Amino acid sequence: MIRIENINKKFKKLQALNDISAIFNRGQVISLIGPNGSGKTTLIKSILGLVKADSGNIFINGKQINGDPSYRSQIGYMPQIGRYPDNMQIGHLFRMMRDIRKLSESDVDADLLVKFNLMSIFEKPMRTLSGGTRQKVSAALAFYFNPAILILDEPTAGLDPLSSEILKEKIMQEKKKNKLILITSHILSDLDELTTDVMYLQEGRMVFLKDINALRQETGEDKLGKVIARVMRDNKKNSLWIDEVLAMKSSD
Ligand code: ADP
Ligand code: MG
Repeated sequence: MIRIENINKKFKKLQALNDISAIFNRGQVISLIGPNGSGKTTLIKSILGLVKADSGNIFINGKQINGDPSYRSQIGYMPQIGRYPDNMQIGHLFRMMRDIRKLSESDVDADLLVKFNLMSIFEKPMRTLSGGTRQKVSAALAFYFNPAILILDEPTAGLDPLSSEILKEKIMQEKKKNKLILITSHILSDLDELTTDVMYLQEGRMVFLKDINALRQETGEDKLGKVIARVMRDNKKNSLWIDEVLAMKSSD
C-alpha cells in the first residue's frame, strides 16, 4: 500500500531522514518509534506530501506521489499539532470537509464526533478550544471519511484517559477492517495491543522494521516497552562491536 524507496531529507545541515526504505501493507499497524527529533513526523509528512524529500520515491497503491495530491483522499491524517482557522466553528469545519468531497452526512463516519461529544459544542470556534478538545477534533476528522490508510501522529497526547481509551478502541476497530495504520506515540503501552510491526528511527536512520511477534520471540519480552528496551540494549552492543571492527580496519 505504501512503498518508500531511499528517502533522504535535509533541513539545512541536519539530515532529518537518511536513506529510509520500507513497505507497509493493509492489515498492518506500524508503530513508528524513536527519540524526539528522530524524524518520525518528517517521514509521515513526506508520505503525505507535506514535506518534499530531497531524493527517493514514495508510492501509494503503486502510484508515485509527485505533485498530484488526489491520493491524499485515501489517507486519514491526525497531525501532531492540528492547525485550523481560528474563527471556524467545529460544526462548520466538518461540513466544509464534507462539502469539499461532495459527501452527505450519511456518507461519513461520525462515530468519534458522537463518542467525544463534539456535536454538543459544534458552535464553538476552533480558537476557543483546549488542546485536548482540538485533539479530539483532529481524531474525529481523521476517521471521518473512512479512509483505507490512517496516519496518526501522537494521537493520544493531550487526551484525558477516557478519551484516550475511546480513541484506542476506534483504532482497534479500524485495524480489524484490514486498514493500514501508521502510528507514533511516546506512550508505548498505548501501542501494545495495536502494533503488528515496529519501525524504529534514530537520528533519521531506520534502525529496524520488524514484525512484533518476531521481536517478542527474539527478546523473550511481551510488552512493547520492554521489547524495545532489550533490542536497543543489544543494538548498542552491536554498534560498539561495529565501531571496533571499523577502528581495526582503519588502523590496518
Ligand atoms: P520526531 O517527530 O521524531 O520528533 P521530526 O521529524 O519532527 O522528529 O524532526 C526531525 C528533525 O528535523 C528534528 O531535528 C527537527 O528539529 C528537524 N525539523 C523538522 N522539521 C523541520 C523544519 N521544517 N525546518 C527545520 N528543521 C526541521
Ligand atoms: Mg513528531
